[in-house]
Amino acid sequence: MPELPEVQTVVDELLRAGIAGARIRAVDVLWRRSVAEPAANKFRASLAGRTIAACSRRGKFIVIDLAGGGHVLIHLRMTGRLILAAAEARREKHDRVVFRLAGGRELRLHDTRKFARVRLVADAAAALGALGPEPLAEDFTAECLRSRLARHRRMLKPLLLDQTFLAGLGNIYVDEALWEARLHPRAEAAALAAVQAAALHRAIRTVLVRGLRNRGTSLGRGKGNFVSPERRRGRNRAALAVFRRTGEPCPRCGAAIERLIVGQRATHVCPRCQKERGGPARGPGKAARG
Ligand SMILES: [Zn+2]
Repeated sequence: MPELPEVQTVVDELLRAGIAGARIRAVDVLWRRSVAEPAANKFRASLAGRTIAACSRRGKFIVIDLAGGGHVLIHLRMTGRLILAAAEARREKHDRVVFRLAGGRELRLHDTRKFARVRLVADAAAALGALGPEPLAEDFTAECLRSRLARHRRMLKPLLLDQTFLAGLGNIYVDEALWEARLHPRAEAAALAAVQAAALHRAIRTVLVRGLRNRGTSLGRGKGNFVSPERRRGRNRAALAVFRRTGEPCPRCGAAIERLIVGQRATHVCPRCQKERGGPARGPGKAARG
């Protein structure tokens, strides 16, 4: 599922391709349920002739601002992809919504599993208001994270996946951040020491910035894997320490990575670096491999 680095990569490529300023000639809704609101007919009619003023990201949402008001929100969910194609390029079986742009291009939502959703709203702030802070925002400080963690007795993994707690993280980057910070996914949020919260804050930013630099994570070559609007795959897979690396050696200590289920989600940990009890694990240690 696309997370913050993948969604930001989509937005960056759309902007580079000149999406801001593009005029929408017409919209084709090929799978009606991909449009969450309003009804497909109204969606089509409301967008025809409108100009895209800006494109940005909030959490895992792509936000397209329309000149004169209104916003298109796109959530890619499991397998959604936004592809920019020449209008004459053959459409694909799983294209669900197509924005026909002036100048002979199309912005196509392609989605094999049909969970992706597009909505047209008048007030983006209201629609996105429940989202937690942006982890890469300047005002999201270590102290900000610490005070938010202190209010929750939940386990770290499900809490960090909760978009109202923090926006943009999903399974990949939460597992990577917890490994980076040497924290167990079942650790209780409120029980973290200030130094651990600070380590988690640093770790979240580290793994997200790395993911962004690598243009996102594509896990395989299957239809469901992330590709950008320019049909490029992310390069971040090689940089992952634990996610879907069960049985492989921890890059820090050499112990075999384990797979757990935490809050019903597959979770990957180093059993030596991320101790379930007894506070923060110690540093890598030369004898760790023994
Ligand atoms: Zn380790």
